[in-house]
Amino acid sequence: MKEIILIKNGELALKGLNRTTFEEILIKNLRRRLTPLGEIEIRRAQSTIYIEPVADGFPFEEALDRVGRVFGIAAYSRACVAEKDMGDILQKSADYLKPMLAKVKTFKVEAKRADKQFPHPSPEICREVGGALLAANGHLKVDVHNPDLTVMVEVRDFGAYIHGEQRTGAGGLPVGTAGRAAILISGGIDSPVAAWMMAKRGLSLNAIHFASPPYTSPRAEQKVRDLLARVARYSGTIRLAIVPFTEIQEEIGKHCPEDFFTLIMRRMMMQVATRLAKDRNCPALITGESLGQVASQTLPALAVTDVATDLPVLRPLIGMDKEEIIEISRKIDTFDISIQPFEDCCTVFTPRHPKTRPTLEQCLATEAGLDKEPLIERAVAGTEFSYID
Ligand code: ATP
Ligand code: MG
Repeated sequence: MKEIILIKNGELALKGLNRTTFEEILIKNLRRRLTPLGEIEIRRAQSTIYIEPVADGFPFEEALDRVGRVFGIAAYSRACVAEKDMGDILQKSADYLKPMLAKVKTFKVEAKRADKQFPHPSPEICREVGGALLAANGHLKVDVHNPDLTVMVEVRDFGAYIHGEQRTGAGGLPVGTAGRAAILISGGIDSPVAAWMMAKRGLSLNAIHFASPPYTSPRAEQKVRDLLARVARYSGTIRLAIVPFTEIQEEIGKHCPEDFFTLIMRRMMMQVATRLAKDRNCPALITGESLGQVASQTLPALAVTDVATDLPVLRPLIGMDKEEIIEISRKIDTFDISIQPFEDCCTVFTPRHPKTRPTLEQCLATEAGLDKEPLIERAVAGTEFSYID
């Protein structure tokens, strides 16, 4: 029996005029994720995408797993293909669904006749298929209100499709449809979640990580790569910039009052990140900040970090509790990596009494001892790039 993957577009069906572009980007993203598994053909019609393997032995379950992580998809299913002929539909329904029906007690049939040329209306398809399935599976009962399994029969442009379960897609918008932005990624719990959330809104990602060897170890960098690899399963390839941050931190340590360390460090991060983002045509930065979570994330602290860049700073976690953030990090499989104990550059230079109500004037005064411009230029010049996917 021939099988395909049927994909229902998500929010992008609402995009009116842009719909074609959105679908094309979604198809390109799907192709990138799925072609490593085997040759496929992709077709689309009426807000539905059809993925058809060219040869036998296609790893459907692995493919479904990947489809489940592609943004812009509302629902998807593995389906059997039948002729647009009632006899063939009845025969294939009985054969294809047998193993699934063996595991349940009640079912119902839903039919969708998208091809209005098909002579049998939906209620008739339901009735006929329901009857055939009851006849072939003695233990079954119909339950239209609360069935264990809902069987779908869809008569569409290219054929009829039968499937037993529809899975919920990752939602959001196809990556790339919203442009791109640079995520400031630490090894913590929050920033990978922030990256995932913005990829979900259609941004493709660049990543910037500040490393302070020898205070931070190569293991900490590897941790960031591992985290990004998990995010990339959703977002696609991420270009990573690793910025040498030691000199800046040491200079801050020498020339600034301790209670301002974190703030000045974050303002310097913003300035270096802004240069790198602009070099890569990223018109926005993303951080994992959440209001009030730590001293550097109070409103006055965020205000002085904000003015260190002229790019918009997207902070998708700003209104979330730690518990809510952790829930997502578990869902996207970054949590276990995030909690590995490697020092981050922020934790190395943490002041004992961080300033929680800084003003810009105070920051500028405390930064006066830093020769900022050459420091920023050297950090940018020493940055190393790689690709994560
Ligand atoms: P996270 O869990 O993301 O590390 P956090 O709660 O530990 O966040 P901070 O350490 O104050 O918070 O960092 C706030 C944000 O600053 C991070 O979410 C991240 O976007 C950015 N950031 C912090 N450290 C780094 C770093 N070493 N490299 C790049 N960005 C960083
Ligand atoms: Mg951190």
